[in-house]
Amino acid sequence: MNHEKTIENLYEKVKRIDSKGDLASYIPELANVNSESFGVYISTINSSTFGVGNYSDKFSIQSIAKVLSLSLAYRIIGENIWKRVGVEPSGTAFNSLIQLEADKGIPRNPFINAGAIVVADILISNLDNPKEDFLAFVRGISNDSEINYSTDISLSEKSVGFRNVALCNLIKSFGNIENDPSDVLDFYFHLCSLEMNCKQLSELFIFLANDGCSLFEGKEILSQSQSKRVNALMQTCGFYDESGEFAFKVGLPSKSGVGGGIVAIHPKQYTIAVWSPRLNKKGNSYKGIKFLEEFTTKTKLSIF
Ligand code: GLN
Repeated sequence: MNHEKTIENLYEKVKRIDSKGDLASYIPELANVNSESFGVYISTINSSTFGVGNYSDKFSIQSIAKVLSLSLAYRIIGENIWKRVGVEPSGTAFNSLIQLEADKGIPRNPFINAGAIVVADILISNLDNPKEDFLAFVRGISNDSEINYSTDISLSEKSVGFRNVALCNLIKSFGNIENDPSDVLDFYFHLCSLEMNCKQLSELFIFLANDGCSLFEGKEILSQSQSKRVNALMQTCGFYDESGEFAFKVGLPSKSGVGGGIVAIHPKQYTIAVWSPRLNKKGNSYKGIKFLEEFTTKTKLSIF
């Protein structure tokens, strides 16, 4: 790994910055983490790896899981998926209801909650045992049987998930949800509750840096073209209404979650996972963005 010293130096620099932002306390269980945790882990497609800080502490990956559910649904139903969900940045918050009425229940993209709820519905219609089968898919990508849901987190979100209930019902009223909304939401809350650490996260997402193939046995998770498209969606929609600013600062296809994690992909080169739970106003990790901005600036390793 060529950039170990740079990563260490930037880690120390960003760690010292005043902690701005708040925990995602709208999900009560997410307020129980150490707000000063900070970890970074990088994996290259040549299998070199390096981590600093709390990279082996598990956290709730939340919306980062939307990339995995999209990948499985895309793998199963192919291009038909785009009849149910769009590919445009929304320019609105991750949990917004605003555009759905005008767009007649077709969410703008698969990474806002509305889109991920439709993807969850597609998976329920296509899997025999959605929770078990999805978990097996995720574990199989990097041969990591330690990855699991957190029941505490999924129940915690279920107890307060009123906006997601509203989103799912509104979409159902337009006919774009096939299954019972309570089943769809139960599955959605589960997939958002997946827990892993930065090391597991960067190793899991390496297939998106490797034309859709995992490094473990070279398994094809997505075709090259599908992998390109998922990367494009991460680039344009991965940070909701902060996607433009994130691209401007960092320049890598990436996905964030309200647990404070970010995974960034440099196609054909590396993935890097960062975790720092304090979030900015758009619900994205404050220090995670800072670190990635410094990293791609210093190393010149961005796609632009
Ligand atoms: N489970 C969270 C929610 O639905 C996911 C949001 C996120 O990580 N941006 O609100």
